[in-house]
Amino acid sequence: MLFCGYCERRMQGDWKNRQAYYRCRFPAQYAVVNELDHPKVVYLREAEILDEVDSWLGTVLGPSRRSTRTRRA
Ligand SMILES: [Zn+2]
Repeated sequence: MLFCGYCERRMQGDWKNRQAYYRCRFPAQYAVVNELDHPKVVYLREAEILDEVDSWLGTVLGPSRRSTRTRRA
């Protein structure tokens, strides 16, 4: 559901050190062809965006219908 801010492609989920990440790999030759200044790999740690995701879910679903995975104690 997340899209890379550099190339606007869908990011892939990944696990590193027991933490969820989203990543976008963009081969350098494609970046040159498409005239993008894109790092080789972009990583986004899921924990860094959970507050924003929770806020968004609260506006869409209401607090009682949020997933327990995104709730915080
Ligand atoms: Zn990208």
